[in-house]
Order: sequence, then structure tokens, then C-alpha cells
Amino acid sequence: MSKMAAGVWPCTYSMAAALTLALSLLLAPSAADVTREIVRSLREHGFAGSVYPHNSYGYEKYRKVQNGACNRVLFPLIIIRPASTYDVAVGIKVAKSHYIDVSVRSGGHGYTCNNIKNGSLHFDMRRLNKVELVRESYVSFTSMQKLD
Ligand SMILES: Cc1cc2nc3c(=O)[nH]c(=O)nc-3n(C[C@H](O)[C@H](O)[C@H](O)COP(=O)(O)OP(=O)(O)OC[C@H]3O[C@@H](n4cnc5c(N)ncnc54)[C@H](O)[C@@H]3O)c2cc1C
Repeated sequence: MSKMAAGVWPCTYSMAAALTLALSLLLAPSAADVTREIVRSLREHGFAGSVYPHNSYGYEKYRKVQNGACNRVLFPLIIIRPASTYDVAVGIKVAKSHYIDVSVRSGGHGYTCNNIKNGSLHFDMRRLNKVELVRESYVSFTSMQKLD
């Protein structure tokens, strides 16, 4: 390869890389696009609970956990408050299909901030506060015990 060709190739290569990076940044969906798409997808799949995208009314109220240090730095993309186990399943399915992290909180007393994540689809489980004993599950549980 001539000296000139050897100099031109890396230059062309880095220009192509820079162009690819610029295009991908330009064409990448914004956080607002992703949020809109997730909310639409939740509703389309029959999510009946409440949905609070970042900066919406109610978001701050439901974001807060007990440890103030977590509150200062952790901001989920969207907070959802499932009204049923079906809603929980829909939330997980939608998060998975959009490659978005999930975080889950109940009382929010955990001290290590592992009950809330930045940029996540955040499940606030406080509405699901009843336990129902399903007879079939109980029967299958006892038969598992017998097998042991
Ligand atoms: C001041 C203080 C005192 C404490 N004293 C005690 C004590 O005496 N005895 C004791 O045992 N513990 C104690 N703890 C610890 C506390 O009980 C635990 O952190 C407990 O998990 C808090 O429950 P929570 O519902 O608030 O959980 P969260 O803080 O909401 O969540 C804790 C973890 O559980 C996960 N999680 C929550 N809900 C769900 C769900 N529905 N499905 C799946 N994952 C879920 C979260 O993602 C997170 O990882 C204390 C904590 C503090 C801050």
C-alpha cells in the first residue's frame, strides 16, 4: 500500500465511524418517545392501574422511598401502580419488550436503595396489599411437601 493510501484509510474509517455515531444519536428515540411508547403499550395490553411518567402529576408523590439519600439521586422513567396481578404481568412483559430495567417497591423501607432504580419501569406495589389463599395452590403445595 502506498504511503498516501495508508494515511487516507484511517481517516476515511474514522470519518465513517463519526458519521455512524452522529446518525445513531440523531435517530435514537428520545426519553420522551420511549416513555410515550411504553405508556401506549401498557394501555394496549390492558394495564388498568395508574401510570406516572417522569415529571407528570403524582410522580413525585409515588417516587419517594423512606431513605432520603435514595430520593435525591434515583428517578425512574415511569412509575406504575398495578391494580391486579394481571397488571404486574403486563408491566413485566412491556418492560422486557422495551429492554428497560424494572424496580419494585412495597413499603419503601429498604435502606440500600435497591427498591428504586434510575430510568426504570418502577412498580409501586402498595395497592396489592391483600393475600388470597387459592385452594388449588394450597393442594399442590401440600403434595410437593409429601414428595420430599
Ligand atoms: C430503620 C429500619 C429499621 C428496620 N428494622 C428491621 C427489623 O427490625 N427487622 C427486619 O426484619 N427488618 C428491618 N428493616 C429492614 C426492612 O424490614 C426491610 O428492608 C424490608 O424489606 C422492608 O420492606 P418494604 O416492604 O419496605 O420493602 P421495600 O423497601 O419496598 O423493598 C425491599 C426489597 O424488596 C423488593 N420488593 C419489594 N416489594 C416487592 C414485591 N412485591 N415483589 C418483589 N420484590 C419486592 C424491592 O425491590 C427491594 O429489593 C429495617 C429497615 C429500616 C430502614
